Amino acid sequence: LNEFELIRRYFARRDPVRPDVILGIGDDAALLEVPAGRQLALATDTLVEGIHVPAGTDPASIGHKALAVNLSDLAAMGAEPAWFTLNLTLPRAEAAWLEDFARGLFDLARAQGVQLVGGDTTHGPLTVTVGACGFVPPGQALTRAGARPGDRIYVSGVLGEAGLALPMLRGQLELPEEYQAAVLERFHRPWPRVREGLALRGLASACIDISDGLLADLGHVLEQSGVGARIDLSRLPVSPAYDTVFSALGWDTALAAGDDYELCFTLPPAREQALHRAAAGFAGSLSWIGEIEAEAGLRIMDEAGRPYRPARRGYDHFAAD
Ligand code: ADP
Ligand code: MG
Repeated sequence: LNEFELIRRYFARRDPVRPDVILGIGDDAALLEVPAGRQLALATDTLVEGIHVPAGTDPASIGHKALAVNLSDLAAMGAEPAWFTLNLTLPRAEAAWLEDFARGLFDLARAQGVQLVGGDTTHGPLTVTVGACGFVPPGQALTRAGARPGDRIYVSGVLGEAGLALPMLRGQLELPEEYQAAVLERFHRPWPRVREGLALRGLASACIDISDGLLADLGHVLEQSGVGARIDLSRLPVSPAYDTVFSALGWDTALAAGDDYELCFTLPPAREQALHRAAAGFAGSLSWIGEIEAEAGLRIMDEAGRPYRPARRGYDHFAAD
């Protein structure tokens, strides 16, 4: 299987096929039609085997996750996804692996109506980089910079569920049998909150997706908005699986583990009613976890209203060990 056969067999001319792709895979560049009156949102993220995905992860999950994490970034901007690129570095060209990888990738692409329009294929340690593009009306993108004192802080879904997977896989955490599959699914197949991000346009004052843990990601919002915040642990949404190991983990996994890919956003109090109307179409629940404050820094309150100091703050690739 040479490079060009590989591209043709697994990646070229797969559905969905969008009319705004004038020229897709096969030339020196793709030609794409951005709708009139829309801005282009562009995000790119890399998965490295051994870092973002444990060695030996099933290829369909890698394909899914590589696209999902990028669609999650577009969701956090309130952008409507349209196209993506795939830069694939492979240790070897193995038909069965590529078949499964492509299935995971294109199942999600189809579900989200996004088309693969180009990429690059190289030889080396397994690394998958996706670049994803979407559309947003001018001025309506959700950024990290708009939070204001008095805004309420919300998260979608539950926190810390994906963070149970690695300790479980390493045999460091014992989860009841009935929760194990759901935890692995959350970790390997995060579902990007695209619909939720679109519904938050015109409502949220700031938004981010939770890829590195709530503390790290909310921290980016606070920093870029020039504000601080208070959050209440008693309001943090955790899953039933998390509840079963709460006595061992406490709040820290929910606060600092990555890979949840839920949205964290801020909302001016006057838009509360509008949010509740919009939230009818959301996949999971929404939780109000705290409030933006003028004073810089993040204050975490425990169930008794006392300050809580977390043991870790989130994932940082270059943090000193
Ligand atoms: P060039 O040498 O001009 O960069 P390539 O041989 O790298 O061209 O790629 C040929 C075509 O195949 C291009 O349209 C490129 O975007 C596409 N392509 C290459 N690898 C992939 C991939 N992994 N997924 C999707 N498209 C790809
Ligand atoms: Mg190339």
